[in-house]
Amino acid sequence: MTQALVIGAGPAGLMAAGELARAGLSMTIADAKPSPARKFLMAGKSGLNLTKAEPLDEFLSQILGPEHLREIVADFGPKAVQNWARELGQDVFTGSSGRVFPKAMKASPLLRAWLAELDSLGVQIRRGWYWTGIDGRDMKFVTPDGDQTLRPDVTVLALGGGSWSRLGSDGKWVSILAENGVTCTSFLPSNMGFVVNWSDHMQRHFGVPIKPVRLHVGDMSVVGEFVVSSHGIEGSAVYAVSREVRNGAALTVDLTPDRSEADVKNRLAKPRGKASLTNHLRKTLKLDPAKIALLQEFGRPLPTDTKVLAKLIKVLPIRHQGPRPIDEAISTAGGLSFDALDNGLMIKALPGVFAAGEMLDWDAPTGGYLLTTCLATGRYAGRAAANWAQNQMAETRR
Ligand SMILES: Cc1cc2nc3c(=O)[nH]c(=O)nc-3n(C[C@H](O)[C@H](O)[C@H](O)COP(=O)(O)OP(=O)(O)OC[C@H]3O[C@@H](n4cnc5c(N)ncnc54)[C@H](O)[C@@H]3O)c2cc1C
Repeated sequence: MTQALVIGAGPAGLMAAGELARAGLSMTIADAKPSPARKFLMAGKSGLNLTKAEPLDEFLSQILGPEHLREIVADFGPKAVQNWARELGQDVFTGSSGRVFPKAMKASPLLRAWLAELDSLGVQIRRGWYWTGIDGRDMKFVTPDGDQTLRPDVTVLALGGGSWSRLGSDGKWVSILAENGVTCTSFLPSNMGFVVNWSDHMQRHFGVPIKPVRLHVGDMSVVGEFVVSSHGIEGSAVYAVSREVRNGAALTVDLTPDRSEADVKNRLAKPRGKASLTNHLRKTLKLDPAKIALLQEFGRPLPTDTKVLAKLIKVLPIRHQGPRPIDEAISTAGGLSFDALDNGLMIKALPGVFAAGEMLDWDAPTGGYLLTTCLATGRYAGRAAANWAQNQMAETRR
């Protein structure tokens, strides 16, 4: 029987394994960690955002990579992802922003059903198997039982990006590929927070969500919320603009996204009497203590002129010291370049070795785009790998 190997048991690898097993190949998955899909489980901790219910064109426009990648995702897009989850017995719902979650919110019921399905297809999982290199057709591993070698007929690599290394994706596979003549682009943090060296008066606001706000970078603006942490700023609105900010665009925040600048100015111009400026801001604009602290942090000394103060409240510059360390990023851009791959996601320099998921060089915001792209590329690479292996077998029989 033709032997298939998937290295990496995240969403991309599990998807590829299912395709290979369904095509009739004898299927083994090897993963460095003692249990599969640890990042997927972590993703479910604050609600597993599987995909986004929006027109396909809009969805695809968020995925930065070659056109071929968008074609792959178009073939297994938001509707297909929802159907796939339902077929695994996990009903989904669409939140107000279009984000799609399993009804259970967390990832574990979906993962359990998925692993049971793979088990019923005869897929073997080798746990704690850390891939260390390639020698001809041999794939080398360090395992709990010492060094081991597998000699598959076809392999799919689904090793993840370069963040949250404690969950398995340590990005060290880049040097294995380099030893085999495959160069990768450097990892960059994506969907990450930024470092802010806060003054002491911000301490009591650590952990507090700043909402609602509108963040501006260049021509782009996002309404949402972010969190002030001891390290800086993080959270969905910050992640949404993080790529532009990482690339050097200035970040400003509108603390009153529901009011025009003129309205803010008129409210500030109301008689203040003996009230402190803080109380005046709270009463006239309903700014909460965390927003007022942020205004003082970045706007101090606050202007006395109401027109200038209104402008500052609408366009408050956020001074930061750059992205948080890459290991904390939700995802990474960079990795295995599409130029190194053929149309079936096979590594040109390594015939019979395919790749999928976050290890490929693409980028997307949070909001379900990441998981959908990992699932779609895993499915596509698994199918292409099965076809390739079957063609090779047919050749050798001839
Ligand atoms: C906190 C957090 C929340 C997130 N929330 C969401 C969300 O709600 N929606 C969304 O779309 N995305 C979310 N993401 C991103 C999403 O989880 C990832 O993009 C996705 O898991 C990547 O899938 P993958 O299969 O490519 O890689 P991974 O899930 O990283 O899996 C790679 C696997 O490869 C294994 N591996 C790596 N190197 C080796 C080696 N040398 N030998 C053997 N095995 C190896 C690892 O152990 C791991 O199991 C979140 C990420 C984080 C960190």
